[in-house]
Amino acid sequence: MALKTLNTEKALIDGELVAAADGKTRTLVNPATGGAGDTVPECGVEDINRAVAAAKRAFDDGRWTGLGPGGRAAALFKLADLLEQRLDELAPMESRNVGKPIKLARDSDLPFAIDCLRFFAGAGRVLAGQASHEYIPGMTSIIRREPIGVCGQLAPWNYPLMMALWKIGPALAAGNTVVLKPAPETPLTALALGELAIEAGLPAGVLNVVPGGDEVGAALVTHPDVRLISLTGATETGKLIMQAAAQSLKRVHMELGGKAPFVVFADADLEAAAQGAVVGGFVNTGQDCTAATRIYVQQPIYDQFLDRFTALARDIRVGDPSSEQTDMGPLVSQAQLGRVETLVGKARGAGKFALGGERAQVAGLEGGFFFQPTVITDVADDSPVVVDEIFGPAVVVLPFSDEADAVARANAVRYGLAGSVWTRDVQRAMRMTGALEFGTVWVNDHLPLTGEMPHGGFKQSGFGKDMSPYALEDYTQVKHVMLDTTGDARKGWHYTIYGDAE
Ligand code: NAD
Repeated sequence: MALKTLNTEKALIDGELVAAADGKTRTLVNPATGGAGDTVPECGVEDINRAVAAAKRAFDDGRWTGLGPGGRAAALFKLADLLEQRLDELAPMESRNVGKPIKLARDSDLPFAIDCLRFFAGAGRVLAGQASHEYIPGMTSIIRREPIGVCGQLAPWNYPLMMALWKIGPALAAGNTVVLKPAPETPLTALALGELAIEAGLPAGVLNVVPGGDEVGAALVTHPDVRLISLTGATETGKLIMQAAAQSLKRVHMELGGKAPFVVFADADLEAAAQGAVVGGFVNTGQDCTAATRIYVQQPIYDQFLDRFTALARDIRVGDPSSEQTDMGPLVSQAQLGRVETLVGKARGAGKFALGGERAQVAGLEGGFFFQPTVITDVADDSPVVVDEIFGPAVVVLPFSDEADAVARANAVRYGLAGSVWTRDVQRAMRMTGALEFGTVWVNDHLPLTGEMPHGGFKQSGFGKDMSPYALEDYTQVKHVMLDTTGDARKGWHYTIYGDAE
């Protein structure tokens, strides 16, 4: 029997799939055509208030915390199973919403995201902590690691379901309740997730999915009953949210922009580095916060690397994201296309283009937001394409002299999310991993992540980790409980406050 099509038309609030309170909808734009896409609810402040109230009730009455780590894990495993069973529907949905090649959505993003959810389901049962102990005579100290309460989570558009699961996974496993707001451009798979959460048996109000614009996110940030705000988004958004969250001293968890260096030493496997740079630079049309956007190559092999890298990048097949033969789809929106065109345009005259630099034309998809794979050289270290996040398929390739030069140049940006070093010299590799100021550093690869290990930024790429037990820590708070074990009314130290020593 064919399954009913997954929900993309209703928000999830208090365990029910509902329209926006005022009935508003938004027609999405299909990035591959530039034309109208799916229609989704456009929630407002009233919906946020209802969702937060539901999440607060669900937290306060213990319907979620009361299940304990094992009960919560069972529900989250069920949710992961349901997502996996619906992969054939979710992958095309993600692909058409973001303009992501179908093979990337189906074979990489979604299976990885589901695996991360499974990791959290299990990891919530084995949170590590300090042993309880008698640190002072007559008292036993115990650490309780407790959930924080209602978490407001703001997701970006580049990996919609993956970011949603990276967020709700640790928050829910730790016993919090959640109001998730997907990016306005890409709510489809998050809305489907809402329906599957009901089917998985998550109690009403534990997870709420409320799609809407930035102003709806802002309502979440200022809501007095929200205890933590987690954002994956732009660094500038992070700054605005920290300011707004300061009014109620909310905890904040920030996964922000990146400008990853990709450092190739002369002793590196040049073919591996060139292949890795194509993958690292152009994955997801370069709309990846860890994308290899600054490729530094040691002088003796600079020309050879550039030739090989450019030749490989030229072979990237730009086209219809629903085609199995497409390597790179469009940018997500007209706005993002405009941003990439503007930034890349600033390199015109200031540097050289080894490849691309223009909008790409795809036959039959003339209105799509396509841009050519672009390789820029000979630009100054302080030029916008070197220091600003492009978030599109444009990378710069620059020469460097020695190790000190490589470290200084790689670190000379405000971002610190990820970077890679390519060398066969193990000592140099270790020195470089220490010297690079980035939250993830790869050696002889660029991009892979795993649910067991943390992902998060240094510097203006934010703070707080996604994935791994460190994320679970970020979604819990530590309580110290002290128990008197003597039963004495008058303790030996009371005289320091009144009376005399006995
Ligand atoms: P964005 O900052 O514009 O939006 C992110 C989310 O925040 C959206 O849901 C948006 O509606 C919401 N938002 C925006 N302004 C808000 C405000 N003032 N108050 C409350 N909510 C607000 O980011 P984007 O354009 O969707 O995504 C691209 C950015 O995300 C890039 O900078 C990229 O590097 C970053 N990113 C980072 C990671 C990471 O793990 N560090 C992963 C993916 C994307």
